[in-house]
Amino acid sequence: MQTWTLLPSLALLHLFSPGGSHGRLSILIYHRVPFQPDPLFPDEGGAETFDRQMRLLTTCFNVISLFDAVQGLRQGKLPSRAACVTFDDGYADNAEVALPILQKHDIFATFFVAAGFLDGGRMWNDTVIELIRRAPGERLDLSGMGLGQFEIGTLPQRRQAIHSVLGKLKYLPPDLRRSRVEAMCALIPVRLPTNLMMTSEQIRVLHNAGMEIGGHTANHPILARLENDAARAEIATGKEMLESIIRAPVRLFAYPNGKPGNDYLPDHVRMVKDLGFDAAVSTAHGAARMGGDLYQLPRFTPWDRGQVRFTLRMAQNMLKAVEAG
Ligand SMILES: [Zn+2]
Repeated sequence: MQTWTLLPSLALLHLFSPGGSHGRLSILIYHRVPFQPDPLFPDEGGAETFDRQMRLLTTCFNVISLFDAVQGLRQGKLPSRAACVTFDDGYADNAEVALPILQKHDIFATFFVAAGFLDGGRMWNDTVIELIRRAPGERLDLSGMGLGQFEIGTLPQRRQAIHSVLGKLKYLPPDLRRSRVEAMCALIPVRLPTNLMMTSEQIRVLHNAGMEIGGHTANHPILARLENDAARAEIATGKEMLESIIRAPVRLFAYPNGKPGNDYLPDHVRMVKDLGFDAAVSTAHGAARMGGDLYQLPRFTPWDRGQVRFTLRMAQNMLKAVEAG
């Protein structure tokens, strides 16, 4: 590839993101990286897409570890076009599929792991997804648990049903949500996977490869929906569990779901500080700057809305043009 053809795009990114005290930090969020694209969520891509995105990212940005970026923000020494890669929740494919691709591109990513699901656990949203993926027949009647009726004859219909059920369950009190999901399990007689999340050994593999393991609570609750004592215990327990696995400090934290004011509140920011984390990330969009709150660093989903997507897309197009030519 002739990198000079990318120069206009790099110049643009440089303009948006100079180094030093005016530096801006782009932090990307990933969740699952399946080997092949999931037929239910084909837009999210698989290993090939991820590999392409990491190649583009390292071409256009200075990709550094989030821990180094936090130090850079603290000291006004961020490189120009700084970017970090993060993963939420602790999916097994992060170790199986993403790790070798990250290593190929020399990227040191951060993995925010909900520690309570390691070694055979499953998050409630994945239980819903896997139930509806496997449900037999063309119609699914969940009206008995107040969730509605769905046509599931086609993949788009199943995707729509998943979207609708997740939306209805997301902000229910945890106990009520658990009972609804259990009722769904009783109604849909299928075997569910127990290997979606990482094992403790996979966490150690990531850590030993130089990747950062970050806290994401024990059970992934919406912190804003918990009493303060319970929220604090969730954050603290998750940290302790991960530290006992990697035998090293867990220094960074990601708020579950991550929308400020909705999913977490100023009290939770204080708790994260008090529990000894060095910095924390939200899911508010944007790029982090010096002087911003290191305990609420914004992140964005790759190729989602916003200015960064625009420049990345542009660079991507240029990359395509180079390859075609
Ligand atoms: Zn999460």
